[in-house]
Amino acid sequence: MITVGILALQGAVREHAKSIEASGANVIIVKRTEDLQEIDGLVMPGGESTTMRRLIDKYEMFGPLQEFAQSGKPVFGTCAGMILMAKEIIGQEHGHLEVMDMKVQRNGFGRQRESFEVGLSVKGLEGEDYIGVFIRAPYIESIGEGVEAIATFQDKIVAARQGRFLACAFHPELTDDHRMHAYFVKMIEELKQSVA
Ligand code: GLN
Repeated sequence: MITVGILALQGAVREHAKSIEASGANVIIVKRTEDLQEIDGLVMPGGESTTMRRLIDKYEMFGPLQEFAQSGKPVFGTCAGMILMAKEIIGQEHGHLEVMDMKVQRNGFGRQRESFEVGLSVKGLEGEDYIGVFIRAPYIESIGEGVEAIATFQDKIVAARQGRFLACAFHPELTDDHRMHAYFVKMIEELKQSVA
């Protein structure tokens, strides 16, 4: 069975855990570096990316998280988690973990649209549109060669995949539709099989 870690520094950790379990995987709540050794893939929730970065540094998890992502294990970043993964952040000199080849714009939908929900057609998800819950959401301004945009809204990329990395600008844990988490679990399963 697949075990997925949820980075538990900030954000809707329990909701992510519920969605991962509903997708047929075990969950480990990741609070310390050691927890990373137990997991096949990691979810980084939303919240506030600058605060999350501060907490990552405080708990000395920056290096271990970067190593985890570079070791070949899948990572799914949602909202602030997506910002943490990006190689570039508009207006900032450096990114954070810089593992996924994309440039992101924080708070990309303006103040007047602090939060909203919208039906999205997400490549790889079957059936009806996926309802994306956006909360002070970023968007992806541009992607590198190996990255595929899997959902857009108003001509902006709001979800993308680069091999074992998955990122979305919205909050998939805040709906009862578990298809995004199931997609991630399937990514992990496929990767495990291909290296087995
Ligand atoms: N605006 C937040 C940031 O820049 C992200 C918002 C979210 O994760 N809901 O980190």
